[in-house]
Amino acid sequence: LVARLGGDEFLVIAERVEGPAAAEALAARLVDVLAPPIVADGAEVRVGASVGASIGVAGAVAPTDLLREADIAAYRAKAAGKGRHELFGDDLRREIAERADLERAFAIALPAGDITFVYQPIISLDTDRIYGIEALARWNRKGHGPVPPDRFVAIAESSDLVIDLGRHALRRATAQLAAWSETGGELAESSVFVNISRRHVLGSTLAADVREALDLSGIAPHRLVVEVTERVLIDDELVLAATSLAAVRALGVRVAIDDYGTGYTSLAHLGRLPADVLKIDRSFVQAIDRPQEATLVRLVADAARLLDLTCLAEGVETREQLDALRDVGCDAVQGYLLGRPQPPDDLIAWLDGRAAA
Ligand code: C2E
Ligand code: CA
Ligand code: CA
Repeated sequence: LVARLGGDEFLVIAERVEGPAAAEALAARLVDVLAPPIVADGAEVRVGASVGASIGVAGAVAPTDLLREADIAAYRAKAAGKGRHELFGDDLRREIAERADLERAFAIALPAGDITFVYQPIISLDTDRIYGIEALARWNRKGHGPVPPDRFVAIAESSDLVIDLGRHALRRATAQLAAWSETGGELAESSVFVNISRRHVLGSTLAADVREALDLSGIAPHRLVVEVTERVLIDDELVLAATSLAAVRALGVRVAIDDYGTGYTSLAHLGRLPADVLKIDRSFVQAIDRPQEATLVRLVADAARLLDLTCLAEGVETREQLDALRDVGCDAVQGYLLGRPQPPDDLIAWLDGRAAA
């Protein structure tokens, strides 16, 4: 039985399937059959499909569950790239249970104060002094140990929890900068960089959350930099994102485009981005020993200069990468070579050591 569920979603029900291998073979055949171009009005059109499959032994799985599982598998097939198929099985079932468990635990950990921040220095290439500090979230889950940030941020991103995380990060990081500033020294002139997720940018509270953090901490607005990943700015929501970021910039706070180069914003768009800082993605820094990549980074650095954007590079791990970035005219750099993300007290000790050296 073949049916259209709605939109571009179709359902195939096959009875008497021999087992997982037969279901996968059928899914693969469906993908193959839909792959060749179709001629419509003299033009070639390509459609292609991603297939998710789920197997229910008669009576053992409710039809609605079977549908939901197939849907999850299809989603996963799509995420893995076009023209794939995925079978819902024990590993997916386990992954879903694990995610749900992590999400519940995170929802408790955040208000309990179990999410902490480490701080990574960003060094100015002009002065060799601290340009800023990026705040990075950490979660040491009680009874389980550390959860990787990529993992818990991705889980928080599937709900408004990630907005709570952003609000928390804004408050903590600005309070930390205010505390450091009282002790004088290099940190008294530096800025703090806070990661803000796409959902928070597209929501209605970002400007108010930023203003609240500024009011509570008392730091000057230009010392706060909000980092958003380039991918927030490339799709249908560009207008909404730009409006939200403009409201943040109207407060005097700066905006940085994170992971720059991974989202294919054209150079022509750079001048119109609601941004003050470009953060070149680690993947370009890692490949900067290749002439082509070096040329690309130089082009971005030149464009940044012309457009009055500050150009940062992240993920600097070797002396050669540092020299290359200096050579192309980057303003500031961040990476393990210069300093690891560390708890606030360690950062002070690290700074003292650096000054002594
Ligand atoms: P990101 O914003 O691109 O942060 C940079 C990541 O690169 C950090 O990973 C940092 O520890 C790591 N890193 C820094 N220098 C180097 C280097 O030289 N080499 C290598 N290989 N890595 C380096 P981390 O802390 O694991 O964070 C991962 C991601 O999680 C972040 O990527 C960011 O997208 C997200 N994240 C972390 N904290 C927050 C937060 O408070 N809010 C939100 N929304 N996202 C966060
Ligand atoms: Ca970042
Ligand atoms: Ca980044």
